[in-house]
Amino acid sequence: MTTNAHRAADSHGREVSYLRLSVTDRCNLRCAYCWSCQNMRFLQHSDILSYEEMLECIAAARDLGISKVRLTGGEPFVRRGCLDFVAAIRGRFPDVDVRLTTNATLLEGVPARLAELGVRRINISLDTLDRATFERVTGRDFFDRVRTAIDESLAAGLRVKINAVAMRGINDHELPGFIDLARRLPLDVRFIEHMPMGGGVPWDPSRCWPADEILEEAAKLADLVPEEDANEARGPARMYRITDGAGRLGLISPLSNHFCNTCNRLRITADGRLRTCLFSDKEYSLRPLVRSRLGDRDHLARVLRRALLSKPVGVELLKARRQGAPVAERRMSAIGG
Ligand code: SAM
Repeated sequence: MTTNAHRAADSHGREVSYLRLSVTDRCNLRCAYCWSCQNMRFLQHSDILSYEEMLECIAAARDLGISKVRLTGGEPFVRRGCLDFVAAIRGRFPDVDVRLTTNATLLEGVPARLAELGVRRINISLDTLDRATFERVTGRDFFDRVRTAIDESLAAGLRVKINAVAMRGINDHELPGFIDLARRLPLDVRFIEHMPMGGGVPWDPSRCWPADEILEEAAKLADLVPEEDANEARGPARMYRITDGAGRLGLISPLSNHFCNTCNRLRITADGRLRTCLFSDKEYSLRPLVRSRLGDRDHLARVLRRALLSKPVGVELLKARRQGAPVAERRMSAIGG
């Protein structure tokens, strides 16, 4: 079995330990920053890896030293059998730390089951605490479902991180509300800078609300103490404890203060394409390998290892892009965030 000592590294010496696996490109929300009315085409069922094939990908990734797998999408719970898939991963790879990123609109009754399966952490995307704004941003009136799911997740003992895309003119006036949420509840609220992703989704620099400005405004609202999270070593977020609160505030700044130097991630899309960098459209198709006799685990692991060697430094792609152009062609829901 691979131990951390054998983690594979790229040509910049970055070791990978974390796989983001997209189980579907479909989603039940229509978030303005992720969805475009033009060119929205979804993968055919036959193009999507079966859960069995995804397990093979995880097995190969483990051979590289991956110890953490995050299921994402699209919306993972839109795909039938997602919970059984979590159970299958936990059953076959009990040492793998399985996490999920979800919009939490389909989570009724799920958190307790996740906890039973040994899942410890869940990321819930929630950009606003206002029901009308929620509907405006996501196209759906599901705010109450998400709020209930947060409470259910906490009650089930899951560590909850709320991820909010930071958008000027949309949720920048809601900082006091988010800080209050993190004061009252033992969870992390993390703002993520809005990234210029592709797929015809509009991106407007004037809508960006930079992390440093959020921090400056937050420091006026709460006493914040920077915190290192031992369990989240090399994570992308700068975390701050709220001294008189139960939770924390975090800032993820891929644009203004990148964390590419410590990037430890690989991504596999629902159709089995390996992406070694969120911002790079260079993809390696694993599907023919997992579907053919070539798909033995050693071969798959060798392909992953070779691809890893040319893992780019994403910020260079970000800087090199034409002004106003997206940094990658795929929309975020087809990558998995
Ligand atoms: N459906 C799941 C969810 O809502 O969490 C998982 C997929 S979603 C693509 C993953 C994350 O990407 C979400 O937190 C979403 O807010 C974020 N995201 C999507 N587009 C983004 C963008 N252009 N910039 C920053 N974050 C983005």
